[in-house]
Amino acid sequence: MELLLRSTRVVTPEGVRAAAVAVTGGRIAAVLPHGTEPPPGTPVEELGDDVILPGLVDTHVHVNDPGRAEWEGFATATRAAAAGGVTTLVDMPLNSIPPTTTVPHLRAKQAVARGRAHIDVGFWGGALPGNLDDLRPLHDAGVLGFKAFLSPSGVDEFPHLDRHDLDAVATRIAELDALLIVHAEDPDRLAGAPQRGGPRYADFLASRPRAAEHEAIAALVDVARRRGTRVHVLHLSSADALPLIAAARAEGVRITAETCPHFLTLAAEEVPDGATEFKCCPPIREAANRDALWAGLADGVVDCVVSDHSPCTADLKVPDFAEAWGGISSLQLGLSAVWTEARRRGRTLADVARWMSTAPAALAGLSAKGAVEGGRDADFAVLAPDETFTVDAAALHHRNPVTAYAGRTLTGVVRSTWLRGRKVTDHGTPLTGPPALTAPTGRLLER
Ligand SMILES: [Zn+2]
Repeated sequence: MELLLRSTRVVTPEGVRAAAVAVTGGRIAAVLPHGTEPPPGTPVEELGDDVILPGLVDTHVHVNDPGRAEWEGFATATRAAAAGGVTTLVDMPLNSIPPTTTVPHLRAKQAVARGRAHIDVGFWGGALPGNLDDLRPLHDAGVLGFKAFLSPSGVDEFPHLDRHDLDAVATRIAELDALLIVHAEDPDRLAGAPQRGGPRYADFLASRPRAAEHEAIAALVDVARRRGTRVHVLHLSSADALPLIAAARAEGVRITAETCPHFLTLAAEEVPDGATEFKCCPPIREAANRDALWAGLADGVVDCVVSDHSPCTADLKVPDFAEAWGGISSLQLGLSAVWTEARRRGRTLADVARWMSTAPAALAGLSAKGAVEGGRDADFAVLAPDETFTVDAAALHHRNPVTAYAGRTLTGVVRSTWLRGRKVTDHGTPLTGPPALTAPTGRLLER
C-alpha cells in the first residue's frame, strides 16, 4: 500500500459510506473499513468529512490546440479541469487546426498535449463528408469514437454531414462497433427560423428552435435503428426530445444522451441582452425546459452531464448573438454548478458522481475510470459539499477569463484532486507544471 485516504463520506458504487481507500501502483487496491490502520510508514490522508468522489470524466471539451491555442491550450484546460475535480477529459475533434479527422492530425494533437496535460486526456475523432476511409485508421489509432455535425459547425474546416453522408458514416461506424456522437440540430429548421441577430437573447433563442433539435435527433434515431450504430446525443438542450430518446431506447436503439451544466443551472429568462458569454448552440432555454431536463436525468433518459467547455478569446464575444462565438467556459466550475442545483432539487452526490464520472467513463469506454472501487485508477475529487464560493472569472485557470458563471455563488468547494494516487491540485492550486518542480503527470489515453 502506497497511500491511504480516509473520509467519513466516500461515494462508491454501493453508496456513500465512511471508508479508507487504499492505493497501490496508482490504482485503488481496495475500499476498506474507515478505521483500517495501514502498514507502518504508509502515508495517510485524513480528509475528515470532506467527500471523496470519483474524479470527474468530462467527455466534451474543446481544447483548440494546435491552431487556435490562443482560445485554449492543453496546459490551461487541464489545469482548470484539475482545479474543478476533473481527472479525465476527452478532447473534441474541432476548433483546433487541423481538426482530428485523420491519423496524422491525431498525432499532431497528441504531440501538443504530451507533457502539458495535468490530467488524463483522450481524443474523439471527427467524421466529415469525405473522410470515410480515415475512420478505421483513426479507430485503430485509439480515438474513443467519432463526432459529427448535422448542421454547420461554426468553423469551415469541419463541415457537417447531410443525410446521405450520415447514413454512410453510421454504417462504417457500426462496422467498427465504434460510437457516433452527434451535434443534433437540423440545418433546414435553423435556416427557416427567424434570424434577426443583434443583442437580444430572445431573438437568439428564436433562431435555434427546439424543433431543430427534435428533427435532427429523429434522423439520428432513424439511422441508428437501420444501421445498428451506437449513437450519442451531445449537449441536449430541448427537453421536448426526451420522449423520442426514451422511446428509441425502449425499442432497442443504442442511443445515449448528455446535457450540460449551463442547461441545468441557467435559464433564458435570466440572460441579459448582449451577454454573449451565455451563447452556445443549441441554446440555454427557458426555466420550464430546465426543470424537464432535470426530470430526464432523474428518469435516466439523460445519462451524462459534461461541460462542452468551448472557449475563445474575449474579443470574439461581441455583444451581438449572431456574430459572437458560441461556447460556454465551465470546465473548472461544472461540479460546483451542478451540485448547487442538484442539492436544491433533492439529488445526492451519488447522483452527481454517476452523471459526471461513471456514465461519461462508460460512454467513452474508459473502464479504469469513473468509480471509487478496487481495480480502478486512484482518481479522486475531494469536495467540501457545504462550503460556498463566488466565481471570480479572473481566478479561473482556463486561458481566457470569460464565463457565464461570473459573480455567481456556488456550493461545493473542490479541496483537492488526485490523479492515479497523486495529488495534482490543493485548494485550486496546481501542484504540477510550472512553477512547481514536477512535470504535469497526465497521460494520453487511447482506446
Ligand atoms: Zn461542443
